[in-house]
Amino acid sequence: MRANTENAEGTRGAVAHDDGRTDEVDAYAEGRTVRRNKAVRAAVEQGLVDADNPLVALLDVVGIRESAAELRSAFDAVTAPGTPVLHAFAVKASPLVPVLRLLRAEGIGAEVASPGELALARAAGVEPERTVLDSPAKTPAELREALALGIAVNADNPQELARLDSLMARSGSRSPVGIRVNPQVGGGSIEALSTATATSKFGVALRDEGAREWVVRAYLERPWLTRLHAHTGSQGIELTMMARGIAQTYELAEEINRRAGRHQVDTVDIGGGLPVNFASEAITPTYGRYARLLRETVPGLFDGRYGLVTEFGRSLLAKHGTVVARVEYAKSAGGRPVAVTHAGVQVATRTVYAPESWPLRIAAYDAQGRPKEGPAVVQDVAGPACFAGDLLARAQSLPLLEQGDHAAALDTGAYYFAHHYAYNSLPRPGIHGFAPDGAGGVAFATVRAPQTIEEIVTESGAAHTDALVP
Ligand SMILES: *Cc1c(COP(=O)(O)O)cnc(C)c1O
Repeated sequence: MRANTENAEGTRGAVAHDDGRTDEVDAYAEGRTVRRNKAVRAAVEQGLVDADNPLVALLDVVGIRESAAELRSAFDAVTAPGTPVLHAFAVKASPLVPVLRLLRAEGIGAEVASPGELALARAAGVEPERTVLDSPAKTPAELREALALGIAVNADNPQELARLDSLMARSGSRSPVGIRVNPQVGGGSIEALSTATATSKFGVALRDEGAREWVVRAYLERPWLTRLHAHTGSQGIELTMMARGIAQTYELAEEINRRAGRHQVDTVDIGGGLPVNFASEAITPTYGRYARLLRETVPGLFDGRYGLVTEFGRSLLAKHGTVVARVEYAKSAGGRPVAVTHAGVQVATRTVYAPESWPLRIAAYDAQGRPKEGPAVVQDVAGPACFAGDLLARAQSLPLLEQGDHAAALDTGAYYFAHHYAYNSLPRPGIHGFAPDGAGGVAFATVRAPQTIEEIVTESGAAHTDALVP
């Protein structure tokens, strides 16, 4: 199935004003809302969510394809013809095999950072030449496997490079290898996700004394080091700061190549980290805006001399996921209405523990799954877990949620329901992809089956029941 033709290339992008200002217009936003509303209704009608299965997660297949196409066209528009560009989806953002398979069909590879993520990418059929391994803690076995497969590896630090020295000497691997650098351009509004601070644990800290010279020498001594990698942060980082980090990485590639007297670094991996707008339906910033900013800031990176790797995660998936939870009870406390639902810390861990950094929009649907009408009421939307902070939303204004209604947590396609947190032994919900069925309705496909209670018991040591008693 294809994305709506009316949303094809050209309806989306920057609108220029006389004063030089440009607005981003998200021509896809309305389509997403319409599709989501139909999908929630259909999920209720088709029994994917009901009194016995009060929690389900939905993925918008058309939306994911739209974002993948946007990403490709944004970089096509700024790179010289023939430039090799690999978009490697950061698997940690949505570690689901069918999602990786869908992205692969859209020409997107995989960035993996653990043996599990590599196995998921392989299960999805992502080719080794479209796979990149980054992680700050790769074991010798992981490195050996990566080199045997021929997947790209970015070394995080000098000790890892020393391991690669002996492995490369023995393996004769085809893997492109690079070093991850930290340009130390600074952090953003979310400290936990700021990877380019002075003391970040990631990569070689370029501004530390002697570090830059060490990196250059490392390349001069190793002709097989042909890539350079930086990922300057995820969510909360200003685009200009991200672009500054890429610019400094590019300058370093130029310096290495100058001193090597040849084009040794042939590919720059610019990482991911495009922030997602959680405040409204619109996708902003767009890939187009970021790609244009990068080309303005670092024109030399786009003139055809360098291949590019990108590693976007959240921005490809976030807008296309929805958690739908039944309201089990509606109550009131201290004058504030509280809807007690089945979605809480187990599917929205970051939001529950760090609500200021990760606010979520909640949409209210009635018992039949229709958008709820009525005056906006300030209310809390709570989860099922047994601690007071288990709230999906605090004091959010929306039509009053009543028993049997549904609360939908929007923009949860990345780092939410696919990142289960097993508090209170709450089960992982089922995940279903949705798409038009060709007859005006909605077709669902299982992406991940819901976890059963038996599975929870098994995974909780049932095979070792007597392990601790004499
Ligand atoms: C997490 C991560 C990404 C993806 O970040 P997003 O914010 O999800 O785009 C890319 N590269 C590396 C090395 C990462 O750790």
